[in-house]
Amino acid sequence: MDAYIWHNGSIIPKVDAKVDILSFTLHYGYGFFEGVRAYQTAEGTAIFRLQDHTNRFFHSAHLLNVELPYTKTQINQAHIDVLKWNKFNSAYIRPICYFGPGIGLHTRDLEINVLLAALPWDAYMGEEKLTKGLALKTSTIVRHNVNSVFTKAKATGNYLNSILALQEARACQCDEALMLDTDGFVTEASAQNFFIVENNCLITPDVSSALPGITRDSVIQFANKFGIDVVERRISRDEVYGADEAFLTGTAAEITPVTSVDFRKIGDGQRGTITKALQEQYFKVVRGQAPEFSAWLTLV
Ligand code: PMP
Repeated sequence: MDAYIWHNGSIIPKVDAKVDILSFTLHYGYGFFEGVRAYQTAEGTAIFRLQDHTNRFFHSAHLLNVELPYTKTQINQAHIDVLKWNKFNSAYIRPICYFGPGIGLHTRDLEINVLLAALPWDAYMGEEKLTKGLALKTSTIVRHNVNSVFTKAKATGNYLNSILALQEARACQCDEALMLDTDGFVTEASAQNFFIVENNCLITPDVSSALPGITRDSVIQFANKFGIDVVERRISRDEVYGADEAFLTGTAAEITPVTSVDFRKIGDGQRGTITKALQEQYFKVVRGQAPEFSAWLTLV
């Protein structure tokens, strides 16, 4: 299935890839990664916004003080190679930079490893949620303060916070966590950005303590094309409860409607019309059916 991976510059069978048990990343959560999707189009498999993902991968490296021993061109090509070797028409691609053995906290002289895996992955939340929507629960786990870890890095250790929040939401029979920042305003979900619709206008938290999502940016560009206003600002919980529509965005989650938050219906409790229009636009673009956005696609 996911038989081959790209590991430190070569394609090898996944079973032959070995990680040192004393990996610094395993012990301390110091590493960074990306999540990228490739979709089937009429012209073949295409990777969505590959250059933007690679730029963010290198930006994560910069924020964590890591000098990657590869160029962006090599990492872009690695995505193409891993898809070709696995013969996937559509897939989720996971590049990750992780480190060799190290028990003290010093990062000096750590061995730098990069691997890319590809795996088939349909809708992250399940196909049905794309139409029925999600139930969100505000988390008691607060999103990282911007000066505690860097939320603009897609760092492995950052996700402990997300995992705890998601566990709590699931324990409350909800689908996802809505996370607040240290000032108590909405920031994002466990691994998705968050939008509300009010009076036909999109509102999304600024990215002070959220990851600047590539899907979030795509949605903002779709809204601009549709003539829908977009405001990036603080959102309070009670504002969310009164929103007309809400949705999450992310490479894995794509655009998924939110139909309740903290057991209160959002709008009429169904996928909203603007959410649906943005979803349709997203799927058209990633499947190569919107020529004005074809620059976002890299054919494999
Ligand atoms: N926030 C977090 C914390 C995430 O992990 C992700 C997934 N990468 C997102 C937002 C959405 O980002 P993107 O649209 O680039 O996948």
